[in-house]
Amino acid sequence: MKRTLVVTALLAASLTGCQENPVSGRKQLVLVSEEQAQASSAQAYASTLSEAEKKGKLSRDAALNNRVKRITDRLIAEARLMYPPSRDWKWSVAVIDEPTLNAWCMPGGKMAIYTGIVNKLNLNDDEIAQIMGHEISHALLGHGRERMSRAMAMQGGLMLGSIVAGQDLSALGAVADIALTLPNSRAGESEADRYGIELAARAGYDPRAAVRLWEKMGAASGNSPPQFLSTHPAPDNRIQALNALVPKMMPIYEKARS
Ligand SMILES: [Zn+2]
Repeated sequence: MKRTLVVTALLAASLTGCQENPVSGRKQLVLVSEEQAQASSAQAYASTLSEAEKKGKLSRDAALNNRVKRITDRLIAEARLMYPPSRDWKWSVAVIDEPTLNAWCMPGGKMAIYTGIVNKLNLNDDEIAQIMGHEISHALLGHGRERMSRAMAMQGGLMLGSIVAGQDLSALGAVADIALTLPNSRAGESEADRYGIELAARAGYDPRAAVRLWEKMGAASGNSPPQFLSTHPAPDNRIQALNALVPKMMPIYEKARS
């Protein structure tokens, strides 16, 4: 009860609150400013990478690193056109050498893809572009901030207080870590599917690969669902919705390729 009151009071006094997303127009509850989200994500990203480095888990496969960089560079160029504030982001991508089926993009454009998802799903360039386009869309659409806001609420009122007061960025770094493990909402997933397929089409990647990607992901889920699916819950009609988008995306894709 007490905690609820603290959270409510902070919400009422909050500098952010309920905002309309500039890209999607959807109302989102956000307790973290874009600046806070990016600063804490940069911190969480640096520690994730140094941790991976220590364990020898940063991929040294030059061909794979170059391939991922080439694909994400093309997506970033389109993201900057779709959402101009992202021109100022310090984009970065890492390939992490772990068998997990996962990929993510934090607020501010800090991305990672795991060798597990590339190898186990035998992804081609178009499919990698679909997965990273989807991840980048989550960042463009402010979904990371939504997840961080939920992580903050989970951590309780005191921590929230020190963060809102701007006193504790390290606590916010922990929140950025936790946020990566929380599922997106199904509404958020539909949005990221919709914008991700267009981002990839504009960058010259085949929209039909989006359907194949999610079919592969479904087939791989079997007994132990990939980590990716726990953080990206499937909207009921995902494959159907993506299929319906393909005809609209094909002309964009063909124009980008010509
Ligand atoms: Zn997602």
